[in-house]
Amino acid sequence: MKCDRCENPPAYTRKYSGEKLCSQCFSKSIVRKTAKTISKYNMIKHNELVAVAVSGGKDSLVLLKIINEMALTHNFRIIAITIDEGIPGYRDEALEIVEKFCTELNVEHKIYSYKDLFELTLDEALDLRENEKTSSCSICGTLRRRAIDHAAKDIGADVIATGHNLDDTLQTFVINMLSGDTTKVGWMDPDTSENDLRKIKPFCEIYESEIVFYAFTNDMPFQSEPCPHMHEGIRTEIREFLNSLENQHNGIKNNFYQSILKISQTVKNSNSKEKMKCEKCGNDCTGNVCSVCSVVLKLKENQT
Ligand code: SF4
Ligand code: ZN
Repeated sequence: MKCDRCENPPAYTRKYSGEKLCSQCFSKSIVRKTAKTISKYNMIKHNELVAVAVSGGKDSLVLLKIINEMALTHNFRIIAITIDEGIPGYRDEALEIVEKFCTELNVEHKIYSYKDLFELTLDEALDLRENEKTSSCSICGTLRRRAIDHAAKDIGADVIATGHNLDDTLQTFVINMLSGDTTKVGWMDPDTSENDLRKIKPFCEIYESEIVFYAFTNDMPFQSEPCPHMHEGIRTEIREFLNSLENQHNGIKNNFYQSILKISQTVKNSNSKEKMKCEKCGNDCTGNVCSVCSVVLKLKENQT
């Protein structure tokens, strides 16, 4: 058997398209697809500075590798940023991996911690929550969004790039729908060109399983230790459900993604007049105070 694009033996079968690819052609296809997504949504412009959020997981390290290669030939700059939530054990391993990988790639790397930004580590914030039902990941995700915004402004970035893949998008959509939060669905539109600070997800059209295979076949380092809070939220269940659907119906995730694209654009357009600025921090939001500020304020109240 041969690779569909060259004479080498195939290493990967893309079930949804039937393509069989050797390791090299597979890797090239991932790089090409990433470049296509970036240009389709005009994600990065000439001379811009891109803050690449690197957690130490496979997605963000693969993103850093691919976007760094593009930066060298496409006339934009990158700086890697890592957010340290203050999760004992888990974050230390990741920081070491990211530091080493950035040195190898010769990419500048900066670390920002919850402790410095909010005067609270994640574990301290979790102890302060009133309602045990608020999941660790929802507090953590809210703080991380703000920390990444801060980091990007601090380094003067024009764009923030994250390693979210197609599966992440599907899971987030289902979570938003199940929680009744349709406004957030509008924020899922990959075209963020109207925002002051653009947030881009160059892997938003690539299956998670393909990023995993890319990391594996390119011998990339990545964190082995999972976050101790990882299975507390509903995301893991949704992920398993979508994976089992895909196993029975190849390509169903791609179809779902196409529907989300259309729905997010429609919701975004219908919400576009509602955009306001948070009175605490000045970021875009839908009410008087944004979700990040209200979470942080509530935690601080409990502290005193
Ligand atoms: Fe934060 Fe949840 Fe991710 Fe852990 S799994 S780092 S708590 S968002
Ligand atoms: Zn705010």
